[in-house]
Amino acid sequence: MNVLVVNCGSSSLKYQLLDMTNESVLAKGQFEKIGAKDAIFTHKRPNADKVERVESILNHKEALTILLNILVDDQYGVIKSMDEIDAVGHRVVHGAEKFADSVLITPAVMEALNECAKIAPLHNPPNIQGIEACQAIMPKVPQVAVFDTAFHQTMPKEAFLYALPYEAYSELGVRRYGFHGTSHKYVAQRCAELMGKHMSDLRIISCHLGNGSSVTAIKGGRSIDTSMGFTPLSGLVMGTRCGDIDPAIVPYLMNKWDMTYSEVDSLMNKKSGVLGISGVSNDFRVLEDAAKEGNKRAQLALDMFHYKVRRVIGAYVAVMGGVDAIVFTAGIGENGIGNRDAICNGLEYLGTRLDKELNNIRGEEREVSVEGSKVKIFVIPTNEEIMIARDTQRITGDLVKK
Ligand code: ADP
Repeated sequence: MNVLVVNCGSSSLKYQLLDMTNESVLAKGQFEKIGAKDAIFTHKRPNADKVERVESILNHKEALTILLNILVDDQYGVIKSMDEIDAVGHRVVHGAEKFADSVLITPAVMEALNECAKIAPLHNPPNIQGIEACQAIMPKVPQVAVFDTAFHQTMPKEAFLYALPYEAYSELGVRRYGFHGTSHKYVAQRCAELMGKHMSDLRIISCHLGNGSSVTAIKGGRSIDTSMGFTPLSGLVMGTRCGDIDPAIVPYLMNKWDMTYSEVDSLMNKKSGVLGISGVSNDFRVLEDAAKEGNKRAQLALDMFHYKVRRVIGAYVAVMGGVDAIVFTAGIGENGIGNRDAICNGLEYLGTRLDKELNNIRGEEREVSVEGSKVKIFVIPTNEEIMIARDTQRITGDLVKK
């Protein structure tokens, strides 16, 4: 069975075509700057030169048409005909309380997704566009939605409610939802496998540290708390997002800097985080270089990021009554040797110590704690695509029967 995994952002589309008989990647790639005259299309196959093209791509539907054409192309393709795509799995950011698991997309599900878009106006609309484009081009192929929020639906009420009037939750759905769920679930499963244990016997803290970052407390295989909230804006200090701030700051800034709410919203999402503090960049590699050259605000931004991650780890040790493993994943978690070192510096009281030599890796899966540590530390490259493909296979298996 071949599954096409599609992840649509507002101006991007990432894809992977997987052969689920052995979970191998047949092709993968991405479209960037969709909507522009100079959109960039990159297509990769194992053991072959990558294809890179710059061309005008108006919308997601056009991108998908280009993708399907190249997948069956004589020279660059990997399948003979579109009939070899048995199902499509879509990453969808927000499933609210409606979806605690992945789901086969039906007209009723589309209606519910549009409903969820009201609380995720930045993220869900491009996901929906991607689904509609696939439905238009491949009307007979079953499609599955896999939600970033679903894994966190196991959080207890005391963890997910905000102390606003209860009606904000019961009438408007204002609560902590959490994101990056597919990634947290994947690395927790891999962590249990690497430890030779069942997830149900473990307390894991997974740190997904990328441009957007979140930390999750996973007890007995279930997410019981996570640092992102009603939206992906809250929690840690991020690349350009502010993370947790006192909500009273918002009207104060509107008043003092004569800003509209949408200007403050944009400031909190796009101009804050390590970029806002450093004034240099949201890219941690650039920040590290600047800090080495003596830029104090770049160093401060890094210190704030590490401090916040360590603080949330400490909180989650408390709510789980201990921890068995801490996992680092995503761009910074997988590659940031110095970042992992700084975050773990001070966690020795837990019975763990980072092994500086083992930690000297980028993008590899490995335990990086000192041998015999009571609490293990792992680097585990995330793989959301494989999770989406597995769920798509599980849900469409009976329809497809291959
Ligand atoms: P997202 O998917 O949220 O856009 P990623 O998971 O791709 O983000 O992570 C992007 C971040 O990873 C960037 O801030 C980048 O600086 C950081 N990163 C990538 N490589 C390294 C590295 N070698 N050292 C430190 N940070 C890195």
